[in-house]
This record gives sequence, structure tokens and C-alpha cells, in this order.
Amino acid sequence: MNLWRQLRWRIVGSHLVVVITGVAILLLATQLLIAQTVPRAIQPRLIMLTEAQGPQAVEQAMTKLLTTFENTVLTSLLFAALGALLAGSITSLLLTRGILQPLSEIARSSRRIADGHYDERITLSGSDELAIVATNFNEMAKALEQVEQQRIALIGNVSHELRTPLTGIEGYLEGLMDGLFPNNTETFAQMYQEVRRLRRLVNDLQSLSKVEAGQISLHLGTFDLIPLMARIITQLEPQIIAQGLKIITENSQAVIMIYADPDRTAQILLNLIGNAIRYTPEGGRITIQCTTRQRVVEISVHDTGIGIPAESLPYIFERFYRVDSSRTRQSGGSGIGLTISRRLAWAMDGELTAASDGPGKGSSFFLTLPLASTA
Ligand code: ADP
Repeated sequence: MNLWRQLRWRIVGSHLVVVITGVAILLLATQLLIAQTVPRAIQPRLIMLTEAQGPQAVEQAMTKLLTTFENTVLTSLLFAALGALLAGSITSLLLTRGILQPLSEIARSSRRIADGHYDERITLSGSDELAIVATNFNEMAKALEQVEQQRIALIGNVSHELRTPLTGIEGYLEGLMDGLFPNNTETFAQMYQEVRRLRRLVNDLQSLSKVEAGQISLHLGTFDLIPLMARIITQLEPQIIAQGLKIITENSQAVIMIYADPDRTAQILLNLIGNAIRYTPEGGRITIQCTTRQRVVEISVHDTGIGIPAESLPYIFERFYRVDSSRTRQSGGSGIGLTISRRLAWAMDGELTAASDGPGKGSSFFLTLPLASTA
């Protein structure tokens, strides 16, 4: 292998080039300077000596003096050169060891991560640039590990969610074939329910993947929130009446112009109010308030329903999380509605949060969106 391609030899080589160039220049300069300056410096004394001892004696003394001087300087230079070479070699070897060891560790760890060992970490002490590289590398490895864990969990969750309606449909079909279920509208209606649940799940999953990949297309614009809210409530009215619920709306202003995507805003509100209806028993009350504050409008959806336990609150925006999975799955919940809603709110520069005083004490969801004037 070409040695110059190896970092180690490039560092050693460049140190040696510096030392050799330094020594060569010093040698050359010394030679020139001795020849030029020494005779001139002792010229006056030489004249005196020539008069006293004759030119030949002076010539001899002069040659001897110059040779001795030159030899001394060259010997010192030789020692200096050897010392510099030695020091240069040792420091460059130490330096290469200090750089190459961590580098080869980083190379080895990245190879292991590429092979799928996401728990791989580098242990480097110190605070130099290489330690910073190692810290960043470890953070990247941690992020990759989390992504991998989420991917595995997602596959598990999706297959689990798909299994429920599929098992239902399979059961009905087996029952029909074995003659256990009557071949009538009611059986088909039950099967249709399962198929609808499956379709809803697939649609939700598609929206989720789009919104998480940032591929959702937003049509941002300025519009009045109040008529949109009224339209959503009218749309949900049959469900509200069927469940014997009371809905109250309180708006701080008659017109609230916001800057958002009207369809996506409606999607979030349908999810929030839909959940409030789903998780509030008969006779309950849902209060929707639209309040403007500084540059945003806050839309709060309060219900007097089953509430959310404090330990579940931090997780309700996570994919597939349900407080009571058996209960909510029965009611058709996929556990990804809030995940999508929060992502949509973020995409529109808004926020979505939740609060609850605990089980049986109702829940509140707060959606903020930018007011039109701030756009
Ligand atoms: P789902 O389709 O299951 O309702 P969401 O993502 O919309 O999915 O909600 C996640 C979970 O949060 C629900 O399963 C439920 O346990 C809880 N939740 C959401 N809204 C409410 C609410 N208004 N009251 C009580 N629990 C709620």
C-alpha cells in the first residue's frame, strides 16, 4: 500500500520535512554568513597583526580561526538537527497515536452500527475535537437506536391493530360457513363494521405516515374560525343528540381570523370534539371556547367525561396509546387520532396539549393556532 496515503506516515513525513528544511536553511545561511561576516568583523585587528607579525602568519591564523569556527558551528548544527529529528519523530508518533486510535475506534463503531448493532457507543475521554466527534457520534447512535426501536414497535402495533378486525371478519366468515351465524342483514352489518374499522385504521395509518414524513400538503390561508366551528358542531350534532350530551360554545369575539389550513383545522377539531363525545357518558357536557391571546387563538375543548389518569397524560399523543385499550378499541378508536392532530397543529405553527383532573373528572384539550395578523 502507498505509505503516503496513510495518515500516520503523512503526519510523520510532514514533521520530518519541516525539520529537514529548517536544518538545510540553517546550514546554508550559516555558511554564507560566516564567509561574509567573520572576515569583515576582524579586519581592523588583522591589519594591526599584519603590521606586527607579517602577512603569512596572519593568513594561517585566519584560516585556522575560520575552520575552527565553522566546525564548531556545523557540529552544533548536526547535534541540533539530530535532536530536532528525534523530537519531531517522537512528537509525530505520539500525535498520530492520539489521533489514529480514536479514529480507528470511531471507524470500528460505525461499522458495527452499519451492521445493525445500534447499542454501540464510543468511550473517549478528554475535551478535544475528537472527543466532541465521539460525543456527537454517540448521540447519533442513540437517535438511530430509538428510531430502530420505534420501527420495531410500530410494526408490532400495526400488526396487532390489524389482527383485531381481521379476527372479527374471519370469525363471522367461519360462522357463516359452518352455519353458526344466520345468513342475514344483521350478520353482514356486523361484518361491515369490522371492515369499516379496518379501513379507518388503514386511512389513519396512511395519514400518520404522511404527517410524520412531513409530506402532508398544507393549504395555508386566512379564514374565520367561527363559521368553521359551527359547521363541525352541526356535522357532529346527530352523535351529540344520540348520546344525550349538551354542547356549549363560548367565543371571545364574533370573528376570529386565523392563518391556518381550514381542512386540517377541521380535522383536528373533529378529532377533539369526536373524542369528547366518545368519552363522555350520557347527560354530560362539552364546552368549546375560542379565546384570542396576543398572537394566537386558543381553542379549548372541555368535557365532563371519563377523564384521563395523570400517569397516562404524557402518553396520549403517542401512536397507538389508549388509556383503556379494551374499552376504546371497542368504540373503534385506533389510538393515533391525537398523534396526527398534534403533528398537524405543529405543521401549522400551533400546539396541542391536554389536561385532566383524573378519572371521572373530565378532560380538556387546548389547540393554539396563529392569528391572521401574525402571518
Ligand atoms: P382514539 O382513536 O383511540 O380515540 P386518540 O389518539 O384520539 O385515539 O386518543 C388516544 C387516547 O386518549 C384514547 O384512546 C383515550 O384513551 C384518550 N382520550 C382522548 N380524548 C379523550 C377524552 N376527551 N376523554 C378521555 N380520554 C380521552
